Amino acid sequence: MSMDNRTCVITGSAKGIGRGIAEHLGEEGANVVVNYRSSEGPAHEAADAIESAGGSAIAVQADVTNRDEVERMREACHEAFGQCDVLVNNAGITADKQFTEMSRTEWDRVMDVNLGGMFNCTQEFYDDIWNAHEGRLINISSVVGKQGNFGQANYAAAKSGMFGFTRTIALELAQGGSTANCVAPGFTRTDMVESIPDSVLDRIVSGIPLERLAEIEDIAAVVRFLASEESSYVTGEVIDVNGGMDL
Ligand code: NAP
Repeated sequence: MSMDNRTCVITGSAKGIGRGIAEHLGEEGANVVVNYRSSEGPAHEAADAIESAGGSAIAVQADVTNRDEVERMREACHEAFGQCDVLVNNAGITADKQFTEMSRTEWDRVMDVNLGGMFNCTQEFYDDIWNAHEGRLINISSVVGKQGNFGQANYAAAKSGMFGFTRTIALELAQGGSTANCVAPGFTRTDMVESIPDSVLDRIVSGIPLERLAEIEDIAAVVRFLASEESSYVTGEVIDVNGGMDL
């Protein structure tokens, strides 16, 4: 699944799932743009790790909710590597609250990053993906977008919205030979689940047929497949990577 000379932009890839994706794609020979909002040190460490492993990477600051910064990220990508072949919309946040307690600000913040960020980055890199030989758009959604989750009405709505967006962009990109897919991870060991109390995590794990949380590598391996030429006839899909949570 060589990614030699393919250029991949992964939003929010200083840490967590995004970093795992960046490192996996770097190992395959891709040029990697490690995007960060605030984690400057970790982003440079991620880029250095990819370079030390023999790959090519740059770290670029851009808040995905800010269109001007996303435009500058595209320019930095073009300057370093040329056009982007693969965009992974991974940046995401939660702001959990039982619905009756949820403020409009908490709703808007989650929509702005998870959906607004995806809009900004996809539109900014759309021409690149269209013009690439078999360009790839990969959106990181969540099992919560399918199943819902107590206290996550905002996040579930945003993650579910990614499905419809992806299917529509898949239709629009298809004429040019590029694809768009979603990956919907289950609960994965990253900072995002750190804040979940152990007792709640135990309850979550007891409901997972494979009886464990996902590791970052489990998600990154599926993204690597979708980014590769091996997946050229897969488009408009949501690939669940959740240990069988919905069985
Ligand atoms: P994480 O460790 O909290 O990392 C999230 C990343 O998103 C951070 O690196 C952060 O960048 C970046 N980010 C947030 N807001 C941003 C913005 N406005 N602009 C640019 N970057 C921004 O989360 P994770 O667990 O790896 O999650 C990655 C993705 O997988 C998210 O979309 C999440 O919803 C999804 N997901 C996670 C799980 C899970 O169980 N962990 C399950 C299903 C889906 P900075 O650190 O630089 O601010």
